Amino acid sequence: MDGTMDGLLWLPVVALALAAPLMYPRWTLRRALARPLPPAAAAILQRNIPVYASMGPALQQQLQRLVKQFLHQKKFVGCEGLEVDDEMRYTIAGQACLLLLNRPSKVYRALHTILVYPSAFLVPRQQMDAGGVVTAHKQTLLGESWDDGRVVLSWADVKRGYRDWTDGHNVVLHEFAHQLDSESGSTNGAPYLGSQDSYRSWSAVLSRDFDTLRYDAYYGRQDSVLDHYGATSPAEFFAVATETFFEKPWQMADRHAALYEEFMKYYRVDPRAWLPQPQQPAGPESLQPEPVAAPAGAARRSYAIASW
Ligand SMILES: [Zn+2]
Repeated sequence: MDGTMDGLLWLPVVALALAAPLMYPRWTLRRALARPLPPAAAAILQRNIPVYASMGPALQQQLQRLVKQFLHQKKFVGCEGLEVDDEMRYTIAGQACLLLLNRPSKVYRALHTILVYPSAFLVPRQQMDAGGVVTAHKQTLLGESWDDGRVVLSWADVKRGYRDWTDGHNVVLHEFAHQLDSESGSTNGAPYLGSQDSYRSWSAVLSRDFDTLRYDAYYGRQDSVLDHYGATSPAEFFAVATETFFEKPWQMADRHAALYEEFMKYYRVDPRAWLPQPQQPAGPESLQPEPVAAPAGAARRSYAIASW
C-alpha cells in the first residue's frame, strides 16, 4: 500500500474527530429531550407556575421541552451556602421558559449560569458624583442580569414572585426579559424583533408609554398599571412591562392596549387566556393599589439609559 492510500484510510477518522465536538452536544441534547419529565418535576411546574394548569396540553408540553433543554444547557450555582434543589431548578427554568413559548428562538443562547442566593443579596457599587469623586457603597438586589451570560436571583424573592401571580412583580420574568433584550446586541428595551416594520411600531408604542410612565413617576401619579421602576430606563421598562404582561394581562390590555398588542406579537401568547378577568372594573382605584414597599435600598439591575 502506498502513502496516498494510507492517507485516504485515515480520512474518515480525521473527519470524525473534527465533527465530534460539534455532534456531541446535539446528541446529548437529543437524549435529554427524549427523556420524559419526572412526575415530581411536572408537579413543581404545576405548583409554582400558577398559570400552568390553564395553559392547555400543547403549551404545557412545549414548556416541558423548553425546561428540559434549559436544565440540560445551563448551570445552577448556589451562593452563601444555598443548596440548589429540584424545586428551585424547575421553578426558575419553568418561569424563564414562559417567555420562549411559540417562538423559534434558542433557549437563552448566551446564558450559561444562574446563581441563586437564599434571599436579597448585597453587591458592591461605585458611584461618581458631579465633581468626579467616586464613592463605594453596597446595594441590595433581588435579581441581576448580566449580558456575559449570568443571571443572579434571590430565592426568597423568586418564591414571593410566584406566590402572588397577579401583583405584576416577578423577579424571574424580569431578569430573563433582560436576557432576551441583550440578545439583540445591546440591552436597550428592544429585543430582537426581526423586520424593520416591527422595530418601527415597537419604538413608537414603547417610547410613548415610557414617556408617560416617566411623567407619572416624576409626579408620583398612579395612572399606569406598570410599576414606576419601569421609568428608570427603556431596558427596565421592557422588563417591568414583561412582568405586567404575564401577571396583569387584563389590566395591561385595558390601560395600554397598543403596548399589550406589541407584547402579544413578540411573546406570541395571550396570557389573558390563562387568568380570569378581574372582577373590578378597570378604574384607577382598582388597578393601582399602593405599591408594595421594597426593602430599604432594594433595586434591580438597571442598565445605561438608551433610546429606541
Ligand atoms: Zn431590571
